[in-house]
Amino acid sequence: MSVLSLQAISKSYGPIKALNEVSFNVPQGSVFGILGPNGSGKTTLLSIILDILRQDAGSFSWFGQPGSPETRKQIGALLETPNLYHYLSAVDNLQITQAISGRGVPADIDKVIDIVGLTARKKSKFSTYSLGMKQRLAIGAALLGSPQVLVFDEPTNGLDPVGIAEIRELIKNLAKQGKTIIMASHLLDEVEKVCTHVAILKKGTLLTAGQVDEVLANEDIAEVSSSQP
Ligand code: ATP
Repeated sequence: MSVLSLQAISKSYGPIKALNEVSFNVPQGSVFGILGPNGSGKTTLLSIILDILRQDAGSFSWFGQPGSPETRKQIGALLETPNLYHYLSAVDNLQITQAISGRGVPADIDKVIDIVGLTARKKSKFSTYSLGMKQRLAIGAALLGSPQVLVFDEPTNGLDPVGIAEIRELIKNLAKQGKTIIMASHLLDEVEKVCTHVAILKKGTLLTAGQVDEVLANEDIAEVSSSQP
C-alpha cells in the first residue's frame, strides 16, 4: 500500500521551474529518500506534500485520500530548525511544543524522550546539548502524537560526524518501529546507508524512483552522484 502518491506535481517560482510533473509512490514502511543536489526541488516537494505550498498542477494523496486535517495528524515533520528554547530542558521544550501544536498528550513526552535517547539528559538545558542531541530532540517534537509518517528535510545537515551517525541510527530505529519515513538528502552515501527506497530529482525532474539497490545499480545516477559535495 502507498502512504503517499504523487501525480504529475509541477511548481514554478516565476520563471524558475522548481518541479516538473513529478510522480512517484511511497510504500508503507519504507525509508524513502528524495535525493538531489542543491536546487533540485526537494524542499519545494516536501512543502507541497505538507500543505505549506500549493502546487501549480498535479495532485497528491495521503493514505489513498486527498489531504485533510485527519490525514495531516498522521504526519510528523521536521523541515528546518524548529522552535526549541535554548534555556529550557527537553521536557519543558516538548511540553511547550505539545501544548502549542495540540499533537499528542502530555503523558507522551517521556516516551518520546526515551525513543530519541535523551532520558538521562531530559532535565538539562537544550543549550548544553551536542548538535546530535539537539536534532534528536527536534525529531522528538515531530514524534508527538505518534504519527505513522515522518517527513524530514536534510535531517543530518550541519551536524558533526557523531551527530550524523546518531540521527541515521535513530531514523533506522524509527523505521523498525513501523514508521514510514520520507527524507530529503543531497548525499548519495546517506541514502545508501539509511533508505530502502529513493526518488532522484535533477533540476525539478524525476530521473528515477524505486528500491535503493535497484535504482543505484542504474548507471544513469552517476551524474547525480558526482554532483554531491
Ligand atoms: P536545497 O537543498 O538548496 O534547499 P532543494 O533541492 O531543496 O535545494 P528547492 O529549495 O526546492 O531545492 O529549490 C528548487 C528551485 O526553486 C531552485 O532553483 C531554487 O532557487 C528555487 N526556489 C526555491 N524557493 C524559491 C522561492 N521562494 N522563490 C524563488 N525561487 C525559489
